[in-house]
Amino acid sequence: MGNRNPLIAGNWKMNKTGPESVATAKTIATLASNSPAEIEIMIAPTFTALALVAEVISSSRIFLSAQNLYWEEKGAYTGEISADMLLAAGCSHVIIGHSERRLYFGETDNTINKKIKTAINAKLIPVFCIGESEEDRESGKTFSVLDKQVKKGLEGFSSTALATLIIAYEPVWAIGTGKTASKDQAQEVHLYLRNLIDKLLGNTLANSIRILYGGSVKPDNIKELMAMPDIDGALVGGASLDPETFGKLFNYLK
Ligand code: PEP
Repeated sequence: MGNRNPLIAGNWKMNKTGPESVATAKTIATLASNSPAEIEIMIAPTFTALALVAEVISSSRIFLSAQNLYWEEKGAYTGEISADMLLAAGCSHVIIGHSERRLYFGETDNTINKKIKTAINAKLIPVFCIGESEEDRESGKTFSVLDKQVKKGLEGFSSTALATLIIAYEPVWAIGTGKTASKDQAQEVHLYLRNLIDKLLGNTLANSIRILYGGSVKPDNIKELMAMPDIDGALVGGASLDPETFGKLFNYLK
């Protein structure tokens, strides 16, 4: 097994203004100062809050992530945000291909592939989201859907280029629904994904890549999920909005 430090990541989605984000980040930074050093912590506020939050967490060990980016470097793309803008705002990570982006904003495996390329070229760490819908799962298509998302999303990359990539497995039916994949269901998919990475990109990357689980992760289920051998962290929506609750997540060992 490679050196896979656990990562607990909070995706705030379209919640919290700048000042609200600053207040939340301040509490998280205080809680993080007493948390186990080997557990990495990441938060993903909205674009308008990034630079403000960056200042608040600058002397903490919290990583700052954006929730999206655009693949072009600059130019006439009204409303879009480039990798350079994210770096200048203080981001080290960027979430790419979240199921809400795929569902509501027309993102495809192809646009996600371009975004991953842009992030990697800019030295931003991509948190690449994949996951099957309820319909996919019920019709026995979970693995074929994930297969396609991984193959297309990572098409054209060498294993060296993907050294920093983080995968987030988020079954769409478990996001914001209160339904969590059982620890065994999640482990089964994580192991499948690790084997798929092994097949596509080799053993070194397969052993070192972190695969996060996402979908209604809460303080009362995180410990059993994190105990599974192929689950390396959590991407958390709802339960990351309240700093005390999020603190319980990155303190799951306590
Ligand atoms: C998410 O959207 O990444 C997510 C996992 O949301 P929630 O924790 O609210 O299910």
